[in-house]
Amino acid sequence: MRILLVEDHPQLGDSVAQALKGAGWTVDLLRDGVSADLALASEEYALAILDVGLPRMDGFQVLARLRERGKTVPVLMLTARGEVKDRVHGLNLGADDYLAKPFELSELEARVKALLRRSVLGGEQQQRCGELIYDLDARRFSLAGQVLSLTSREQAVLEALIARPGRVMSKEQLAGQVFGLDEEASADAIEIYVHRLRKKLEGSAVRIVTFRGLGYLLEATDG
Ligand code: CA
Repeated sequence: MRILLVEDHPQLGDSVAQALKGAGWTVDLLRDGVSADLALASEEYALAILDVGLPRMDGFQVLARLRERGKTVPVLMLTARGEVKDRVHGLNLGADDYLAKPFELSELEARVKALLRRSVLGGEQQQRCGELIYDLDARRFSLAGQVLSLTSREQAVLEALIARPGRVMSKEQLAGQVFGLDEEASADAIEIYVHRLRKKLEGSAVRIVTFRGLGYLLEATDG
């Protein structure tokens, strides 16, 4: 799952990005509102974290333009402490949550997980496909009760597939979830990750089905 972080304060942006990357998310860090607006229009994010005070275009405008385009990606606003009108304004514009500065990184991570649980997993703590279970808080897959050992890329591909049960995901869509803006998104690499995932799922009733020319779908043959 890929997160967009927009924060112009150099140290704060870096430390939040590091913390989220450390927790295993793919993170794009941008420093101004115009870049954020462009990225939100062209990329697929599971979540956006938007500072209110940004150069070139403020966080409220970025949010308003995002919702005007009909995008439902969850948005967490970072507001100045005590600015109640900012929070209300943000929520009215379609923000899903806000966090007042300064905040603890642990609180930010908890909010991020709560928003993702709501939007990606439909409020559930766990997502299941047959005997394959994904625990969002632990960010861990288990297969028939055994924890699956996955690289971060394999994990990102499997997260994208299990979050959309019964839906075919194209290689390009998967690449969009797996690679950040500063990386070369490769559809060929997705084939390799899928190949490795299939090896790790071997012997179970869970499989990744290929739809030629369309993409992949995760399914459990025994329901
Ligand atoms: Ca700022």
